[in-house]
Amino acid sequence: MRWEELTSAEIGALERDRTVVILPLGSVEQHGNHLPLGTDTMLAEAVSRAAAEASGDTVVMPPPWYGFSAHHMRFPGSITLRAETLLALVEDVVASLVRHGFRRILIVNGHGGNNGLIDVLASTLGNTHYGAARIAALTYFTLAREAIGKLRKSKPGGMGHACEFETSMVQHVRPELVKIAQAETCYPDPGSRYLTTDLLGAQAIRLYHDFGDLSPTGTLGDPAFASPEAGKAFFAAVTAELAAFIADFRGWTIPERHS
Ligand SMILES: [Zn+2]
Repeated sequence: MRWEELTSAEIGALERDRTVVILPLGSVEQHGNHLPLGTDTMLAEAVSRAAAEASGDTVVMPPPWYGFSAHHMRFPGSITLRAETLLALVEDVVASLVRHGFRRILIVNGHGGNNGLIDVLASTLGNTHYGAARIAALTYFTLAREAIGKLRKSKPGGMGHACEFETSMVQHVRPELVKIAQAETCYPDPGSRYLTTDLLGAQAIRLYHDFGDLSPTGTLGDPAFASPEAGKAFFAAVTAELAAFIADFRGWTIPERHS
């Protein structure tokens, strides 16, 4: 179910405690020479819709297209919100949902640059709406890290940005938008053993990394390993993980507010 396609009366009739409302988040930013600027938002929305369909009783909100993309601004076409703009935007959307009585709200993020902000949003919104709603936030490829790791063919560094994973996913979801002949491989040197550019890599250090310093094309990783078949497998794995989380989230207790 897509929020923007329903009527007000149809929204009014939804069972408040059971329904999970998903807000997808992404970005409009460079994705190498071969993927569209809207990759992250398109993928977050597609994964959310597929998981919602598999789950039932789940509504997907229209995503705000833009995210926090300051680290991509050296590349034409990238658009960034200020961090506080994105926070305010999501706060207002979630407050509206809570006002309409929805009790289970899930932010599904598809852009690494939003990670710090969804952490803040989960904490602050969870506190603001404590007792009224549970609010959770996740980055879908982190949720599905293990499953993606089993399917990947590239070595560490091959999945980062416009990489084996993202290229395959767009080849599955919007194949007509992929200019695969323009794809270039780049295994960037992050500059320290404490840092990684891999999508599935974990690092303790938080920092600002300008993508123009990491890669001449903006690609981090190895789109040479991408294929529509891999995209189909990645998409199925990610959707299954998200649907499993939705089922769990639907059962979470909503504590009473204590004054
Ligand atoms: Zn991306």
